[in-house]
Amino acid sequence: MILTVTMNPAIDTAYQLDKLVIDDVNRVVPKKTAGGKGLNVSRVLCQLGDDVVATGLLGGHMGAYMGSLMDADGIKHDFTPIAGETRICLNILHEGNQTELLESGPEISADELEAFTAKFAELVAKADCVTISGSLPKGVPADYYAGMVAECVRHNVPVLLDTSGASLDAALEAESKPTLLKPNLTEINALLGTSYTPEQVNDLAAALKADKRFADIEWVVVSMGAAGSFAFHGDKIYRAKTPDIPAVNATGSGDSTIAGFAHAIAAGSDDVTVLKTGNTCGKLNAMDPQTGHLVIEKWDEVYNAVEVTEL
Ligand code: ADP
Repeated sequence: MILTVTMNPAIDTAYQLDKLVIDDVNRVVPKKTAGGKGLNVSRVLCQLGDDVVATGLLGGHMGAYMGSLMDADGIKHDFTPIAGETRICLNILHEGNQTELLESGPEISADELEAFTAKFAELVAKADCVTISGSLPKGVPADYYAGMVAECVRHNVPVLLDTSGASLDAALEAESKPTLLKPNLTEINALLGTSYTPEQVNDLAAALKADKRFADIEWVVVSMGAAGSFAFHGDKIYRAKTPDIPAVNATGSGDSTIAGFAHAIAAGSDDVTVLKTGNTCGKLNAMDPQTGHLVIEKWDEVYNAVEVTEL
């Protein structure tokens, strides 16, 4: 079973409009999805045929509704109930623009966090692989993911971490390391205080190699959107390039990449298969108008065209 964690989930509501008229009535047909980065990972893992359980924190009427959206998507879920209402995030698509209104989400109490910590330990004991994605809600300390990583390491379960900012800093400082870390180029530049471009992968790779914080992490993958990715695995450095097929919506490509990595790592695949699977999922998501959904019928075409080379 692959366990996905979404600590700050959201009901994503998308409105498609020809034109957004400010200061007047706009009539819309909503499209609602169980959102949050970990839910995107879950949906893609379901498409790949994995046994998935989604966990995290859910609250109120919105939380109950979120449960029914996950049921409709065929995602098994085991979330810890909280008193606050699960948030709603609005995405208005208009005239080629994407205007987003994101609620910050509920504040988590110490008792709620303790209940989740106990549930997580139970679920990790049954998992073959764990993915942790996205931001932490209010009330949860920045080093909480570091503690979850330590729990996975205690159970000898591979754990993939996709976060940024203070929770990423705390995970890098901690003694127990995740199996795989997947910052994108913007996140890694923010962390290093640099501004590398995809053309400068060799310089970026050298900077990462010299940075002690990454030394004991088995896999470090830097995703670079349409430019593919590069990765460290032990002493090896790899460059992955995806085929030149037009993208329609790259939102959720990083989450889809995490799903592909989790799928391949849980199956004990070799390095090239791990990288080809992750990058294929990222690309197939970018080719699909839906977020966290692959154009699965193009799997063979894209998988065979993803190039992985050792640098
Ligand atoms: P994030 O969503 O975390 O910012 P990226 O945008 O770097 O992640 O995308 C993750 C992966 O998805 C990339 O490494 C690449 O393999 C694939 N990908 C993303 N966007 C595109 C695109 N426009 N064309 C081709 N592949 C893409």
